[in-house]
Amino acid sequence: MENTNIAVVTGANKGIGYAIVEQLLLHPTKYSVFLTSRDTQRGEEAMANLLKKYPEFKNRLHYHQLDVSSSKSIDNFVQWLEDNQKTVSLLVNNAGIFYQREIRPNNGNFEFVDFLPPEDTKRIIQTNVRGLIELTEKLLPYLADDGKIINISSLAGELWWQGEAVQNWLSDSRLTRQGFFDLLDTFEQAAYKQQHPALGYFGSIYFTSKAFVNAYTRFILPRLLKKNQTGFAVHPGWIQTDLGGKEAPGKIDDSYVSTLAIVNLSLEDSLKLSGRYFDEFGKLKDF
Ligand code: NAP
Repeated sequence: MENTNIAVVTGANKGIGYAIVEQLLLHPTKYSVFLTSRDTQRGEEAMANLLKKYPEFKNRLHYHQLDVSSSKSIDNFVQWLEDNQKTVSLLVNNAGIFYQREIRPNNGNFEFVDFLPPEDTKRIIQTNVRGLIELTEKLLPYLADDGKIINISSLAGELWWQGEAVQNWLSDSRLTRQGFFDLLDTFEQAAYKQQHPALGYFGSIYFTSKAFVNAYTRFILPRLLKKNQTGFAVHPGWIQTDLGGKEAPGKIDDSYVSTLAIVNLSLEDSLKLSGRYFDEFGKLKDF
């Protein structure tokens, strides 16, 4: 395998991650793509499906187990990069969890329905926020000098869902890494007791998890990156997947438009737009 242009996609055995892997294989950049999944069997089935469709990509499609909620699994993957002296040009942090029972669609909008038990709250925050950050930061030493990180966020993470205090905390450009984790810890502890709305947070843990991803992308990640490295958050659209549900208006082929728009940015534009958030059409949007 050549060392140039390795792309890594998390949670890629199905849904949007799988579609992004397929698009990166078809992309003129000719990425060597790592399809990763938490479950090896599900990952290997996805690999088999892709290779059946595209036998010509046999040398550019690779698999590695990667559970973003497990430090051991992240360390194993990073050790593989170290042992094989690989650098990563593109990391797509796609893995995510959502429990549909938290909210329901209402007149083209969503309303909060019910609180989750602590174990589900923990799983969402661990996967969508803490795991994403742990993988990103452990992978930084292996990120190419002009490497890109794309965090698959959501419209759900936009700040207008949140109360005024939360909007202020998560849009403060002085937010430090320590301050970020202090906020996240306080939110998580309150959420275990279902008391986070009293602090100004929207009821849905998933929605707030994505607000934290956006704030991390905007204020923390850029300070950790080298001169020509960049990081972005994108909304993929409301898409028919296991997570998005059957009533979603978007089809899977709509789901990678925003990611590809970021992949296709020139270095100059990437540097101008690093840290920002993009809608499902790849248009710059406020958090
Ligand atoms: P999906 O079909 O449910 O796929 C989610 C993927 O994440 C699955 O491969 C799942 O693996 C994986 N995953 C879950 N926990 C993981 C972990 N700890 N480590 C590694 N992988 C893990 O959902 P999707 O709709 O494609 O969503 C992909 C991303 O898009 C998510 O971040 C989601 O929040 C975001 N998004 C989706 C929509 C939408 O409407 N679909 C809208 C906005 C944002 P398993 O198969 O093993 O469970």
